[in-house]
Amino acid sequence: MLIQIAPNPTNALRESRSRKFRVSFHTLGCRLNHSESVSIGGTFHHAGFQIVSEDRPADLSIINSCSVTEQAESKCRGLVRRILKKNPDTFIAVTGCYAQTDLDSLKQIKGIDLIAGTDQKMEILSLVQSVFQERRDSGGAGMGWGGEASLKRSTPLVFHTQKIQRGDFTVETERFAVFDHVTRPNIKIQDGCDFFCTFCIIPYSRGRSRSRRMDDILLEVSAWVAQGHREIVLTGVNLGEYTTEEGELSDLIESLEKIDGLRRIRISSIEPTTISSRLLEQFSTSKKLCAYLHLPLQSGSDRILSLMGRRYTQKEYMDFVKNISAVVPGLCLGADVMVGFPGEGEDEFQETVSLIKALPFSYLHVFPFSKRKGTRLNKMALTPVSPSVVKERSRVLCDYSRKIRMDYYHAFIGQTVEVLFEARNKDDLFCGLTGNYIRVGVSSDQDLSGRLILVRIQRVENGLAIGEILG
Ligand code: SF4
Repeated sequence: MLIQIAPNPTNALRESRSRKFRVSFHTLGCRLNHSESVSIGGTFHHAGFQIVSEDRPADLSIINSCSVTEQAESKCRGLVRRILKKNPDTFIAVTGCYAQTDLDSLKQIKGIDLIAGTDQKMEILSLVQSVFQERRDSGGAGMGWGGEASLKRSTPLVFHTQKIQRGDFTVETERFAVFDHVTRPNIKIQDGCDFFCTFCIIPYSRGRSRSRRMDDILLEVSAWVAQGHREIVLTGVNLGEYTTEEGELSDLIESLEKIDGLRRIRISSIEPTTISSRLLEQFSTSKKLCAYLHLPLQSGSDRILSLMGRRYTQKEYMDFVKNISAVVPGLCLGADVMVGFPGEGEDEFQETVSLIKALPFSYLHVFPFSKRKGTRLNKMALTPVSPSVVKERSRVLCDYSRKIRMDYYHAFIGQTVEVLFEARNKDDLFCGLTGNYIRVGVSSDQDLSGRLILVRIQRVENGLAIGEILG
């Protein structure tokens, strides 16, 4: 597939400069944000901009923000300060969930030049181009880079709509990110969520559930595979809600399986109640679907699950995990667990611990509750959990997660696994992942990146399964 460069005023401006306009991307938060930053980067790349890494000076810095916790928002504010300290003339554009949910706060931060809400996120290139155009129209065509006057503004330009569109979407071919060097590209297939769990800001920051057209996804995946990529990671907010006129998630997986050269399809995270019986069957029959499931749990207490507005009971969750573990050999099973949800007493926490210990998890993603403005929880009168208790509960679960991950790795000693290699680590071991998410390191003089190689696992050391290459 060829990617076309659409003519635009920026190209003309760029050609009159001695060097390309440099753009850096700073992405906070989830895998979906990362995938979107890569797509937005694709538009800049194809329009002739130079994409530079986060630590390099840039003429334009784009922050793709997150609002899932207070900490994520504070990171965004800190990032603005750090960028400006290094390079006061950098034009700063902020988009993402924080830009959608707390526009007023962002407008108060000195140094931000452009704010784009969720619906405008994928249009950042044309928004920036409109700034250039404005400068040209006002007689300042020579400004903005190459050591000339800054494009910076005293007040930010704001592109934001309160109501986020609901229709299905495409990611248009020109956005495919040929410049990105990841081994396992994230493919955005879905956005938004209709579940409205009481604690969650996402339905407000990303809007209602909507899906990407299947033909558009297949085109993008084929493009990545043609460049030599062997694994893709299907990414969205609530993947199991994927549905278009062309079919549901199982249909998409069936179509992806037919792409020659694609060896692994990984589902990033999926709500347990959205896994259909057909998808469950695909986990046991597919040769490409990775034996990997990340199932948000949040709590093991029925009382807390109900207060959270989750759609399952502890028994339903346990039954589901037992079913799938029985049919998928070697399954890597991970879960999100929230600690310190208001009203979570010691008894409820112990119920969570017991449930976790009763199931064959391979790791946990533990995160403390963070109160979000505008969520349903704000209207509920619940007792907050003290920060020291939250800290201690997090520690207990994080320690357990480290232990079960290593136990899981140990169970594969002596076995032969297929590793998709990514990069060298600081100890000079070449590292990569198996389909069931074991991080493996080997000694090798060669550049193994992007290669799928059979490895026998010999031991577990420093959080890594160490192996030898076969053949
Ligand atoms: S399922 Fe619940 S926690 Fe997950 S994105 Fe939707 S509302 Fe948020």
